[in-house]
Amino acid sequence: MRDITHFIDGQSVAGTSGRYGEVFNPNTGEVQARVALATVGEVDAAVQSALRAQIGWAQVNPQRRARVMFDFKRLIEDNMNELAEILSSEHGKVIADSKGDIQRGLEVVEFACGIPHALKGEYTEGAGPGIDVYSMRQPLGVAAGITPFNFPGMIPMWMFGVAIAVGNTFVLKPSEKDPTLPVRLAELFMEAGAPKGVLNVVHGDKVSVDALLDHPDVKAVSFVGSSDIAHYVYSRGTAAGKRVQAMGGAKNHGIVMPDADLAQATKDIMGAAYGSAGERCMALPVVVPVGKKTADDLRERLLAEIETLKVGVSTDAAAQYGPVVSAAHKQKISDYIQLGVDEGAELVVDGRGFQLQGYENGYFLGPTLFDQVKPTMRTYQEEIFGPVLQVLRTESFEEAVALPTNHQYGNGVAIFTRNGRAAREFASRVQVGMVGINVPIPVPVAYHTFGGWKRSAFGDANQHGMEGVRFYTKVKTVTARWPEGAVEDSAFVIPTMK
Ligand code: NAD
Repeated sequence: MRDITHFIDGQSVAGTSGRYGEVFNPNTGEVQARVALATVGEVDAAVQSALRAQIGWAQVNPQRRARVMFDFKRLIEDNMNELAEILSSEHGKVIADSKGDIQRGLEVVEFACGIPHALKGEYTEGAGPGIDVYSMRQPLGVAAGITPFNFPGMIPMWMFGVAIAVGNTFVLKPSEKDPTLPVRLAELFMEAGAPKGVLNVVHGDKVSVDALLDHPDVKAVSFVGSSDIAHYVYSRGTAAGKRVQAMGGAKNHGIVMPDADLAQATKDIMGAAYGSAGERCMALPVVVPVGKKTADDLRERLLAEIETLKVGVSTDAAAQYGPVVSAAHKQKISDYIQLGVDEGAELVVDGRGFQLQGYENGYFLGPTLFDQVKPTMRTYQEEIFGPVLQVLRTESFEEAVALPTNHQYGNGVAIFTRNGRAAREFASRVQVGMVGINVPIPVPVAYHTFGGWKRSAFGDANQHGMEGVRFYTKVKTVTARWPEGAVEDSAFVIPTMK
């Protein structure tokens, strides 16, 4: 059995806790490796390594730090095939999708290559007589990242790409379900020229997460995962005086207006609902047609597309999506499908019986389609995170805007329309963090910023872009004068600029 080890102080370190997590191949259901779950002491060793490395790393000038990012980018590109295969083998998403996962992280690394520019401070000459004021952004020290299973390439790079470029060092606690890729990324980062200790990886569960949240030398924590855990991480981390950003779950709506290009919208919805087996926080699991004709047309078109959709093993180049991540997750999705039936939604296509010949023990689910879903149903209110698309029919634009606005989650939303005014009004009014206009998965580019609203994110700083730079730095403002000539009287009143 292959052992997946921690990566501390520039080297692979075997775990000592005697506790392990099983890492499955979702295509076959077989255990392919075990991952060591860290002790509090192992987490501390990673933090101490990061702490030792941080002072020197912060003194490396930004241009030289950026050069490490440039080399890291090249190494990822050179090793893309191997990295995507590792990702697919533990997650289950198809290879092309794994490449997309890594590519979206790589784009944050590209953003980090421009860090000298992003870190430039501000300067005011002559703010008072002979007085200049300047501000600079300094790193926080050691930062930590805790990441979910569904983007094991992109999300770690969202975090450490920016955190390290601005002069912090980093401890990553990736998902224990697909932990190999993050370790491989850390190895490549060293190969790119990062000194040991700048990026450490510790595997684990609640024990290691709590150890990071309580550790006095961890100054900032970035979390992405489900909402209850995000809220817990936010509360415990901020109570310990840390800066915390904690992204949570989602239930993204796709509003389809009567004037939409239905042929295009159907294709877009299919990919966004079923791609990666629906295991994306920016998936589109709820579609909201406005008007009966729109709903009936859309349903017919979706049915035709579902008929030709190909589910297969993650290495099958013709497959549109692969298995879900675990047997437990497959069961949870199946239970939600049953709940939908019990709640009275119309099960139009049932993906539960799907079997792939030769892979009967894989965690496969066929595409599921529900119609006549109502806002009062639990299956609508909660995140399912699987290949399940729900149609919720509405009569008006107002009703359609209200649905995502009133939902507990507010990560992403999309509107399909040819009417610019309606789209503009929708984007302005809807209470959701990321909006697509005829764009089904509006994940912002790396130099903009990613973050949801309501129970989709706790804390007020988004991921990557300039928000990321601000999250991982603190501002120092210097007011300077160089007196000469006669000594001035003491000032006992609050100084003001004369
Ligand atoms: P998860 O919440 O189960 O796990 C996320 C991380 O938290 C993992 O590293 C895990 O080890 C750790 N963890 C799990 N239980 C914990 C506990 N009790 N205490 C402390 N730490 C714990 O999430 P997941 O299943 O890996 O990922 C899927 C979820 O992530 C979905 O809800 C999805 O919407 C969300 N997600 C959100 C975004 C976003 O940006 N908003 C992006 C991707 C995924």
